[in-house]
Amino acid sequence: MATDGTADGGLAARTEALESILVEKGYVQPAALDRIISTYERDVGPRNGAQVVARSWTDPDYRERLRADATAAIAELGFGGRQGEHMVAVENTPDEHHLVVCTLCSCYPWPVLGLPPTWYKSPAYRSRAVLDPRGVLADFGVTLPERTRVTVHDSTAEVRYLVVPMRPAGTEGLDESSLAELVTRDAMIGTALL
Ligand code: FE
Repeated sequence: MATDGTADGGLAARTEALESILVEKGYVQPAALDRIISTYERDVGPRNGAQVVARSWTDPDYRERLRADATAAIAELGFGGRQGEHMVAVENTPDEHHLVVCTLCSCYPWPVLGLPPTWYKSPAYRSRAVLDPRGVLADFGVTLPERTRVTVHDSTAEVRYLVVPMRPAGTEGLDESSLAELVTRDAMIGTALL
């Protein structure tokens, strides 16, 4: 019997007290938050945008609507709201590659891409994307043909961009949901090809 009269010397109670202090002081919560954030960065968020891209690849009428009014076309699939109010979709072609940045801060289309990755918010990316887009693309492992023009889009509170990557060759037989699985977050920012 412990001196305080409980079987474990009050260990369970002390553990619980310590845990609540850690949470209260902010030591425990950040770890959990990090996990949630990374889930939204890589998994949950970008899957929405991937559905938009796959739909535009498979449905010419939808593609037209996405070009004309991306906010409304994205809302058709149930995505919208904060940080996604004024969407513009830009399509990559063999002649033109689109790259999205926010030079001022970290404006990003949350409803279709989730939370921005850390590098998107970095001063290095924000400054170099405009000055040397091909250099930035090279850092991401992307080399474009000389003939491909690179257009950089600066996101603001007014306009958020979604890059529609080129549909990979050899995917003619795939249905919309299989196509969506091919679409990556970085491809929709313009820092990756499919
Ligand atoms: Fe911003």
